Amino acid sequence: SKEEGRGTFRFFQEEMNRRLQERKALEADLRRALSEGELRLYYQPQVSTNGERLVGAEALIRWQHPERGNVRPDQFIPLAEETGLIVPIGDWVLRTACRQVAEWPALGRVAVNVSPVQFRQAGFADKVRDALVSSGLEASRLELEITESILLNDTEEMLAILAELRELGVSIAMDDFGTGYSSLGYLRKFRFDKIKIDRSFVRNLGESPDSTAIIRAVLGMSRALGIRSNAEGVEDMGQMALLSQEGCEEAQGFLFGHPMPADEFSGFMAIREVR
Ligand code: C2E
Ligand code: CA
Ligand code: CA
Ligand code: CA
Repeated sequence: SKEEGRGTFRFFQEEMNRRLQERKALEADLRRALSEGELRLYYQPQVSTNGERLVGAEALIRWQHPERGNVRPDQFIPLAEETGLIVPIGDWVLRTACRQVAEWPALGRVAVNVSPVQFRQAGFADKVRDALVSSGLEASRLELEITESILLNDTEEMLAILAELRELGVSIAMDDFGTGYSSLGYLRKFRFDKIKIDRSFVRNLGESPDSTAIIRAVLGMSRALGIRSNAEGVEDMGQMALLSQEGCEEAQGFLFGHPMPADEFSGFMAIREVR
């Protein structure tokens, strides 16, 4: 009836208002998070499939909110991107990761996630250079993870930024490979140093013949192009054995270690070294 329709409409309006308020509150909180030091970087081990040597770590952001508790990046990175807050946050991530890993000479390298919004900001390469210089971290120990969505528009501009970054000596990995519009052409054109095979392909490895076939094809292709590979979300030994057999160079996942705070990661490295 008409009455019900009005009621439903009012309900939607209230729901929309509630969501808008919630978003506003989260945005205000996020602004404060940076200055109040509520953001943390966690580190997740990356290992070689051959011998499970620790080769590096991926830095992953965490937000220790005073009331909401530990807020996962999926719950605030999109908002940070919409509001532009990702620029100062991303800057903080870059500087913190470089400073931290400069103190861990035994660790090969650190991988840092870079949002498309951050990447497209004027002077991004200068910020990367500053982070390297002020931390004293060798450029070869820094890897930037970008997603293919970066490449969709302004190809020439993106190529120019990538060239600037390469000149610094940092390496570039394509994150979440296989989930977007990635093609052979992109990989070649942008000369990625590494692809990170998305967790969704690793999940069913060994169980579904399709997953194995996809992984094999991706690895064959990356090998042909001289691009290194990392498989994300490795949770069991069966997946690891298959990846190793198919020639994937690196793996990352709960099987080797969850993302952990810096002090815990220090302990983790100490144990790995004596083995
Ligand atoms: P991502 O870059 O694809 O990061 C990998 C995600 O997979 C991480 O989630 C990690 O905790 C999770 N993971 C690792 N191993 C396993 C596993 O074996 N099984 C399962 N089920 N999950 C695993 P996290 O830390 O919640 O990060 C989510 C996303 O948030 C990241 O996805 C990345 O896109 C974004 N993110 C995280 N930190 C940053 C950052 O500093 N800057 C930017 N721009 N984005 C970030
Ligand atoms: Ca990543
Ligand atoms: Ca990923
Ligand atoms: Ca992801």
